[in-house]
Formats: sequence, structure tokens, C-alpha cells
Amino acid sequence: HAKRNGTVFELYSGPAESESPRYLTLISELHTAIVENQFVLHYQPRVDIGTGRISGVEALVRWRYPEQGLMPPAEFIAIAEQTGLIDPLTHLVLEAAVQQCRAWSDQGFDMPVAVNISVNSFHDPDFLTRIDTLLATWKLNPALLQLEITETTLMKEPAVVRNLINRLKERGIVVAIDDFGTGYSSLSYVASLPIHTLKIDRSFVIRMLESPRTRSVVAATIFLAHSLGIKTVAEGVDVGEQVEALHEMGCTEIQGYYFSRPVEAEQLRRWAETFSLE
Ligand code: C2E
Ligand code: CA
Ligand code: CA
Ligand code: CA
Repeated sequence: HAKRNGTVFELYSGPAESESPRYLTLISELHTAIVENQFVLHYQPRVDIGTGRISGVEALVRWRYPEQGLMPPAEFIAIAEQTGLIDPLTHLVLEAAVQQCRAWSDQGFDMPVAVNISVNSFHDPDFLTRIDTLLATWKLNPALLQLEITETTLMKEPAVVRNLINRLKERGIVVAIDDFGTGYSSLSYVASLPIHTLKIDRSFVIRMLESPRTRSVVAATIFLAHSLGIKTVAEGVDVGEQVEALHEMGCTEIQGYYFSRPVEAEQLRRWAETFSLE
């Protein structure tokens, strides 16, 4: 058992358990959860410390698990990916994110929303059509929708990914490379893709303060990305010292508990209204 947010979830802990009753129950519960849409999105802001303003939010899914509170994505995204449930789940997340973005826009709060996309969705032949339909239905400016794909995804399917990123860019949808530094892609490969942003993985942000080598890697990544016209976001920033170090290195966009944890939509908007860097 693992304690999360004061609730107890039995953890599924790997392929060895893939035939276990718990795993099979979870799959069937996940089916129901998708049919009934038992999911909620939380939003975490990204702050541009250069301008002192919020530059966007990331939508992070949680499962309103019956009677036990919110289950974090680490405990069900992998299962959804293994069972083909990720496509309908991604669609629910995209729909909720687009709807929320529209609602904020109507309130005069124009906030780009980033959604995490699994590698599986790149094989979903309906992926682009679904996005087009969503944007048209909600009359949303495509520039307000951002998609995050992990560096690992990028390396798995270079040709497919390149094609999809191009098609998204044609529509004005911005793509960010997530968890950058955890895979083995080179920056020159990444730079050959029409991507907008690199998100520097939290593991680097954590090690950066103690390890001069890590600090050099982060500084060089930021410098190279910027000279290639790619923006950088540091993720998982939770102390002021990290903010200062990143600012010195030229990385202005910061996401992490230092500014805010992921929170519900209404709370995010209130936070944004009162936010000030000073
Ligand atoms: P990620 O995309 O790297 O998202 C960042 C994760 O780091 C979030 O965890 C966020 O709450 C956490 N985080 C942010 N700042 C800090 C910090 O300062 N300190 C610490 N310790 N953690 C911080 P979360 O919400 O539990 O999401 C975990 C992962 O689940 C995400 O990692 C993403 O890979 C995946 N995920 C979340 N929502 C979705 C979704 O809708 N679709 C897909 N395919 N994956 C999702
Ligand atoms: Ca992400
Ligand atoms: Ca990330
Ligand atoms: Ca991560």
C-alpha cells in the first residue's frame, strides 16, 4: 500500500504483476472510469521570471477514484498505455483542457494550456482529426493549445513524430519536448524538429545545485536551445536557489512547487489574478 494525499491505493508495481487480480480489476475500473469520465484536471502554472507573468499552464490528470480520493497519474497512465485505454483517456483530457481554456478565454483570462500526449496517440489515425474537431467545436485559437511529448517518445518513432509535429505546427499548435535530458537524443536532432520548447527534466534541476557538472549541462542546454530559437522551461523547481541559478543561466520559464502545485481550475485562475513576482 502507498499513502497519497491521505488516501490509500494499492499499487500496481510492474509487468510481473500484469496477470494479478489487482491489475485486472484496475483495467476494468479504468474502463468504467472512461465511460463515466471520472477524471479531473489540475493545472500548474509556468512563470516567466523575465516578464514576471504566467506564460501558460500544464493540465495534469487525476482519477476521482471511487471513495478514495484522487489517484495520481503515475498509477494509471502506464496501465492505460498497455491496454489501449490511453487513446480514449487522452481524448477526454484534451476535451476537458480545450473546454477549460475556452471558459477562461470567455472570462477574459487567455491562458495557453499544455496537454501531455503519450507515444501511443501518435499511431491513432484519428488523432489530428479529433484535435481539429475539438478546436472547431469550441472555437479555440490553436495557439492556446500546446502539446507535450517526452523525449523518449521522440526517439522511439522519429519519422512518425516528425511528421506529426509538422502537421501540428501547420495548425499553429505548439509542441514541447518533455523530460528533456532523460533520453539520449542529441540537441542537434531535437533542433531539426519544428519544436517550440524544451522542458528540462526535474532530475537536472534537483542535482544542479550540488553538482557543478550537472549545472554545466543545464547551462549549455539552455544556451544551445536559445541560440536555435527554442524556448526552455525548467520543471520541478521548488526552491528559490534553483530559480536564481536558472535565471543566471538564462532560463526564464519556471514551473514547480516554488510557485504553485497543480491546482483546480478555479483556484488556478484566482492564483493567477493575484500573482506577482515581488
Ligand atoms: P510530467 O509531465 O513530467 O509532469 C510534471 C509532474 O511533476 C507532475 O506530476 C507535477 O505535479 C510534478 N511536479 C511539478 N512541480 C514539482 C515540484 O516542484 N516538485 C515535485 N516533487 N514534483 C513536481 P503528476 O501530476 O503526478 O504527473 C506525473 C506524470 O504523469 C506527468 O509527468 C506525465 O508524464 C503524466 N501525466 C499527467 N497527466 C497526463 C495526461 O493527461 N496524459 C498523459 N499521457 N500523461 C499524463
Ligand atoms: Ca509534462
Ligand atoms: Ca516533465
Ligand atoms: Ca517528469
